[in-house]
Amino acid sequence: MKFGTAEAAPGELATGTIALTSDPIGPLLSPVMLARGAVPGPRLYIQCLIHGGENVGPIAAARFLRALDLKTFKGSIAALMVANPLGQRMHSRLIPQDGTNLNRIFPGNPRGSVGEQLADRLLALAGEQGGDAVLDLHSGGELTITAFYVIHDAKGSSPAQLASKALSAQVGSRYQWGATEDWMEGTFLTNVTRRHDKAALIVESGGGARVRALDLDNFRTALTGTAQALGMIPGTPPVAEDIRYGGNAVHVKCSQGGYWDCLVEPGQDMVAGEVMGRMIDMTGQVVETITCPAAQAWVGSIRRPWMPLYAGDQVVEVVERK
Ligand SMILES: [Zn+2]
Repeated sequence: MKFGTAEAAPGELATGTIALTSDPIGPLLSPVMLARGAVPGPRLYIQCLIHGGENVGPIAAARFLRALDLKTFKGSIAALMVANPLGQRMHSRLIPQDGTNLNRIFPGNPRGSVGEQLADRLLALAGEQGGDAVLDLHSGGELTITAFYVIHDAKGSSPAQLASKALSAQVGSRYQWGATEDWMEGTFLTNVTRRHDKAALIVESGGGARVRALDLDNFRTALTGTAQALGMIPGTPPVAEDIRYGGNAVHVKCSQGGYWDCLVEPGQDMVAGEVMGRMIDMTGQVVETITCPAAQAWVGSIRRPWMPLYAGDQVVEVVERK
């Protein structure tokens, strides 16, 4: 069994590289991992770092794959460790060379910009390697800190969309977000679900240029739950309590520049009018108070506290409760 240059016999973990596209210097490579159980079974595909700087996912995925008992493991897991090598080199969630957000331009274009070509290739790889389920791991990045949430494509009820929703309840997250917004159309997740008919999830936790033990634990829970749900390892997937379902997200922006004094935590319940934070100028004066615009919501993510922001910058993403 091969993935890129990684070749694994039954019961083996292999590492290698795969060429994604090219830049002016040469091929853009990503490291890959391929864990193959001694027993045949399902296939899981894990993608990391479609947004550069979101480092919790690849660290957690590598740990998870290295800790598997492949003598009893059923099936195989292929992991693409760096989906956006250009962004990762710059600690940027974007592709610095063409300014695109790679996770908004799917299905991509084999003759388009470097980002569009990358998207086209990533989608093809998920089709070839995806098998039974696909996880796209995110962790906020340098500028944003997120709750431990899971997103699935909820615009429709195809078998893959229903399988995605079912899987979203088995990764141990309280925040189960069935998204239908327009931005979802250009995501890897939605295109994998619709074009390849595979169950696919975004799993996200962490950010703010940190990798916390809590976020690594969340990813271990999610990866273990997915492997259990697919029947690859024994045990019952975790069931979260006090679940917050999510619908549309509202991106709350500041209209005054200044330091961002954030008064909420990712995952916190919010109601309309509740204060979420303040913009403070260089003399310490409060110049704007930011309140929740949604009737009933939870905080999906916050901008990193005390960042100096410009008017129009996003400060909080609130996810409407469903
Ligand atoms: Zn991301």
